[in-house]
Amino acid sequence: VDALPSLTAMPAPLLSFEFFPPRTEALEAQLWSCVKRLEPLAPRFVSVTYGAGGTTQARTHATVTRILRESSLTPAAHLTCVGATKEEVDAVARDYWEAGVRHIVALRGDAPSGANGYEPHPGGYAYAADLVAGLKRIGDFEISVAAYPEVHPTASSPDDDLDNLKRKIDAGATRAITQYFFDAPTFLRFIDRAHAAGITVPIVPGILPVSNFAQVAKFSAMCGARVPDWMGTLFDGLDEDAETRRMVAAVVAAEQVRLLQANGVDEFHFYTLNRPDLTYAIAHILGARPQG
Ligand code: FAD
Repeated sequence: VDALPSLTAMPAPLLSFEFFPPRTEALEAQLWSCVKRLEPLAPRFVSVTYGAGGTTQARTHATVTRILRESSLTPAAHLTCVGATKEEVDAVARDYWEAGVRHIVALRGDAPSGANGYEPHPGGYAYAADLVAGLKRIGDFEISVAAYPEVHPTASSPDDDLDNLKRKIDAGATRAITQYFFDAPTFLRFIDRAHAAGITVPIVPGILPVSNFAQVAKFSAMCGARVPDWMGTLFDGLDEDAETRRMVAAVVAAEQVRLLQANGVDEFHFYTLNRPDLTYAIAHILGARPQG
C-alpha cells in the first residue's frame, strides 16, 4: 500500500493567505477576526485582492494599510491594469510605496461584467508583464504574478501561456501564485513544464478550501479551473447541509495539500474568502503551528 509520508518527516510549510477587502462594517469585523485567527501561523505575507475594474481601490488600500498598522503581518496589495491609465496605476503604486507596502501582486484583471472580452485601456498597462515593468520603475517592490496550471482561458496555447509567465518573471516578478485547482497531479505536471521552460522562481499553489460547492462549480467555469467529477460526487446532496459540507471540504483540501507536500511542495497560498477555519485546519495538518 502506498502511504503518504509521515507528517513528522515534513518541514513546516511556508504559508500565505489571501483576503478580499470588505464592503460593510460587519464584513470588516469578519475580516479582522479572520486576520487575527490566522496571524499566529506567521504567514510570509497576506494579500488583499483588487476588485474587478479597480472598483475596490480605496478599500484595498484601507485593508492593506490597516494590516500594516494593526498586525504583525506583511501585506501584499493586488493591483490590476483594468480601466486605468498608467499614470493612475502608478499613483496607486506610489501611495503603497509611501505607506511602506513593499509587495504587489501584479495582475491584468478581467473585463468588467457585461463587456465583450478584455480590451487594454488606452494609455494603460495592457498586460500584467507591462505592469510588472512599470512597478519596478516606481520602487524595488517584491512582485508576485498569476500562473495557471490549467492554462488561462484566453491563452492561445499552453506554451504561449508559459511564455507569458516567463515574460512576467523576466520583467521582475519573483514568485508566481497559481489559480486554484483541485487535481494535484495537474499542478505537479505544470511545475515540470515550467521548469523545462526555464522558469526558476517559486510557483506557489493556490489552495481554495471549498465550502460552497455550488458557487465554486459556477465560478470555476469562468476562470478555467476544472472541477473533477469526483468532487461533484462528494458534495452531492449536501447543498442544504453546510456542516457536513465543511467537513467534506476539509478532507478534500487536506488530501490535496498532503499529496502536494508528499511530492516536495512546501509553499502554499490559501484563498481564505475571509473565513479562517478551513484554512487554519488545513495549515495545521500541513504542520503549521502558532508561533510565539
Ligand atoms: P496576463 O498575465 O496579462 O495574461 C492574461 C492573458 O493575456 C493570457 O492568456 C496571456 O497569454 C495573454 N497575453 C499576455 N500578454 C499578451 C500580449 N502581449 N498580447 C496578447 N495576449 C497576451 N483579478 C482581479 O481583478 N483582482 C485580483 O485581485 C485578482 N487576483 C488574482 C490572484 C491570483 C493569484 C490569480 C491567479 C488571479 C487573480 N485575478 C485577479 C484574476 C486575473 O486578473 C485574471 O485571471 C486575468 O484574466 C488574467 O490576469 P493575469 O495577470 O494572469 O494576466
